Formats: sequence, C-alpha cells, structure tokens
Amino acid sequence: MSDYDNLITYIRSSFNIGIDADAVQFSENSRLKLIYKSPVNVYVAPVILPSLKDRTAKYLHYVRLALDMYSAALLNKIEFNITEYGEPFDFEINWGKVNRKYAGKCYLPLDWYPKQSMVIGIVDMDNNPVDDADVFHVIIHELGHALGLGHSSDKYDVMSCCGEYATSLSSNDIFVLQLLYSIGNKRSFKDEEKYIHDCIDEYLLEIKKKSIRKKENISENPITPNKQKSLIEKLDSISDVNKYRILLQDIKLNALVKT
Ligand SMILES: [Zn+2]
Repeated sequence: MSDYDNLITYIRSSFNIGIDADAVQFSENSRLKLIYKSPVNVYVAPVILPSLKDRTAKYLHYVRLALDMYSAALLNKIEFNITEYGEPFDFEINWGKVNRKYAGKCYLPLDWYPKQSMVIGIVDMDNNPVDDADVFHVIIHELGHALGLGHSSDKYDVMSCCGEYATSLSSNDIFVLQLLYSIGNKRSFKDEEKYIHDCIDEYLLEIKKKSIRKKENISENPITPNKQKSLIEKLDSISDVNKYRILLQDIKLNALVKT
C-alpha cells in the first residue's frame, strides 16, 4: 500500500472508530470521536495480580510517558492529569491478561464521552509477564484509540494493528492526530474529503523534502527512565515536522477550552 493510501485508510478508520475501526467498508457519514477537553483526567488502577503488584509504579510511569507523548503531539493543547482513586475521570486504565484476540483493549461506549476504559495486557495466556516494551506499546496504542485514532496499515505506526510494536509515535501518527483535531467532531469524512487530500499532499511533500523516514522516529528504548528527556526532545522535533500544518489550523485548535 502506498503512503498515500495508508494515510487515507488510517484517517477513514479514525472516522469509523466506535462503529468498527477495522471495517473495510467505511461509512461516509461516520463522525470523529475526539476529546476536546483539557486537562483530560486519567485514572490508572493499581496492578492487582499478586505476582506483579510491585509493577504499579513502573506502569504508572509508562502511562505518564505515553500521555506526555500525546500532549507534545497535540502541541500541549490537550494536557493530561492523573487522578486519584474516587476522583472524576475521563479515561480509565486497567491491567489484565492478553488473550488470543488482543494485547489490549479500549472500550468506546456508544455514548462514548467522557468515560473510556482501557485494559492493557500485562501477562500472557500462560501468566508470564509481558515484555516492558510491549506493555508500553499497548499503552500508547490504546490511548491513541481513546483520543480518536483508528488503525494504520503501516507497520511502523503506533496505531498499526499488527506491526512492529512501535514505542513512540511516528510522524504519520502525529500528522493524523493533528489533522483530526483540526477537523473536529460532527464532521464526516465526506464533508472534509478535499481538505484531507490537500493536507496529505502537503505532508508527504514535507516528509520528502526533509527526507524523514518514519523508522527514524522510533526511539530505541524510551522506557528507561534516564532516556525520558531525550524521548520528549525527540517528540518535540517530530511535532516540528507538522507545525506548518498546525499554524493553519490554530484557530480551530484554540477553541479548546480548559475546564
Ligand atoms: Zn487497535
């Protein structure tokens, strides 16, 4: 699949999320499911599996890193606040078991907003702990769904359904996220088709000009605490790639209201 076709699939899948992100037949009238809210309150449940209880702090740290990635990708227009038990929340993250079908899950209820629940698989079917990097990937992937991203068919994108288990957002992921948030809810793919095609053309041209390959954006080991800073710096430079686009969309993004 060409880069162009992949981006179209990725974007259309995002319009379809909540209906069926994997549907081959896209509905022309499906709408985006985006969280226009800042801060977004995130409750992270403790790990209750007795053998992995001591991982609660580590996984909480991974969630924080993943949320920081998304804030950076959205140029800090959306921030995330980790809430204590019992406080109101928008997203909820629980820890569970991987099964045959999925390594993680994001529930998008019909009245999807504001509460979305994610389950991240931390033990495999034989009850062995899942690799840290895989846990981290699944956290980023499921948060991507909660923020409104569908599936990509490019294996280096974090939203790939069956790819390389990327542990940071690719330039495609960031581009699609910024594009969707510049469109806003209540618009259909059909409404925005021309705008979407124009943005993809511009993005692919920019990528070509800067000779950026998506693979280069994948951090080697972002989950080691001392690499945290360099990861965020890297993300800043990735989102620079797309800033040209955001400037055009600033009016719409400024409509975000802090509550
Ligand atoms: Zn998925």
